[in-house]
Amino acid sequence: MFKSQALPEFLASIDTNKCIRCKRCIQNCGWSVYSWGGDRVQIDTQKCVRCLRCYHYCPVEAIEIKENDTRYRANANWSFYNIRNLKRQAETGGIPLTGMGCDLPYPILFDNLLLDACQVTNPSIDPLREPMELRTFLGKKPAKLTIKKDANGKPKLKTKLTPQIELAAPFIFSPMSFGSISLNAQKILAMTAKERGILMNTGEGGLHEDLYPYRTNVMVQVASGRFGVNPQYLNAGVAVEIKIGQGAKPGIGGHLPGEKIPLEVAKTRMIPTGTDALSPAPQHDIYSIEDLRQLIYALKEATEYKKPISVKIATVHNVAAIASGIVRAGADIVYLDGFRGGTGAAPAIIRDHMGIPIEHALAAVDDRLREEGIRNEASIVAAGGIRSAGDAAKAIALGADAVAIGTAALITMGCTVCGKCYTGNCSWGITTQRPELTARLDPEVYGERLSNLIRAWEHELMEILGALGVNAVESLRGSRERLRGIGLDSQMLDILGVKPAGR
Ligand code: SF4
Ligand code: SF4
Repeated sequence: MFKSQALPEFLASIDTNKCIRCKRCIQNCGWSVYSWGGDRVQIDTQKCVRCLRCYHYCPVEAIEIKENDTRYRANANWSFYNIRNLKRQAETGGIPLTGMGCDLPYPILFDNLLLDACQVTNPSIDPLREPMELRTFLGKKPAKLTIKKDANGKPKLKTKLTPQIELAAPFIFSPMSFGSISLNAQKILAMTAKERGILMNTGEGGLHEDLYPYRTNVMVQVASGRFGVNPQYLNAGVAVEIKIGQGAKPGIGGHLPGEKIPLEVAKTRMIPTGTDALSPAPQHDIYSIEDLRQLIYALKEATEYKKPISVKIATVHNVAAIASGIVRAGADIVYLDGFRGGTGAAPAIIRDHMGIPIEHALAAVDDRLREEGIRNEASIVAAGGIRSAGDAAKAIALGADAVAIGTAALITMGCTVCGKCYTGNCSWGITTQRPELTARLDPEVYGERLSNLIRAWEHELMEILGALGVNAVESLRGSRERLRGIGLDSQMLDILGVKPAGR
């Protein structure tokens, strides 16, 4: 029998003295690590991805999942993972896939930025006692307002406002399609979005009929595969997004294999059951900014100019010029997806080596749009690596109107960032279509957890604003004077438009 030379990453073991042979680990593991051997649980540790579902559901804490102590003799140049991946490639000849965001130790600039706080001469605000405004409006803003008095002498706004999305707080959920995640996972996002007054995004997989009740808090997406796109779909949500790229896999398309296309996914995507859902790398009718403009206006026509149009791009080297073109093409929102953004499936070689971080991209885009005098023409959503309300506040200070939450939302559903989403075996019922796994993700239970997270971030953001002495998130937007850099060289500080700590 062929035995892989790639060492297992993790070793699962069961303390047989503690084990009560309830078989819950067998039922809970999506990767079939455990099986029943007649009188005890057998373990196939090669299959373990350390998603920890078994650990959480073992009633007697009999399970231990450890890093494999038997390592290759690694050095600073050849890590355990380099050697292991090469052995795997030598055995399969394939392109290793991965899920979630880049996990290589590139610098995370949010961790090199610190926010200001009020002391002595500039009073802080207590958010528990003073009103604090987190409301955020996404969409094109007028350059100036014209107000005239009506016949009764009352002031009236004459400027015609373009459609806006009102968010109760500057958060939206990242696009995650039905197919890449389960319907229950999408329901959790939709229910929470409605409860907290924010938005979920369908991703490229269409809108399942069960989500229509949440349509006032849904942004629908049009990607290169055009899955599920028809006039009803375009008008179902409060905004439409054109997906050009994704931070985790810039420049390439998507591929949802046929085995992940059961009836409900197929119906929602409007494709036959069991066929591969291929999203081409480019949108085949967009090869220039003029083409993009045509699609933006086609979607505006289709939605009777009632919905803002967002354009989502991966952050790449010339992101500022691209964003400027997108705004000039008529987009109301530019969604910037940094290279640490998550994915259901991507070639590891693309995810880990292409694109640029959201922090650099955000600062560059905000600068460019301001220099060109078109910053008011579109809102900016920052995505790809937002881990906390602290990251969100720093992203807003760098220039974002709102931030997108992806992986953090999945973590509230049980995800342990094991990175094996592409297998479709997620034990937590998130990135899978296997009915026995998806059924375990109860929308009521996990909806409450996700709501708790958003509520907690709202409070944290208010605390930050209070400490900064401002009473509206709007006042923090693009206010880089309230940031200082530590451990960053002058070139990096210059790109970010931030002073070093101490100045
Ligand atoms: S879940 Fe725990 S107690 Fe139950 S069979 Fe597995 S190891 Fe034993
Ligand atoms: S969604 Fe599931 S498979 Fe993907 S990283 Fe999280 S736990 Fe692992």
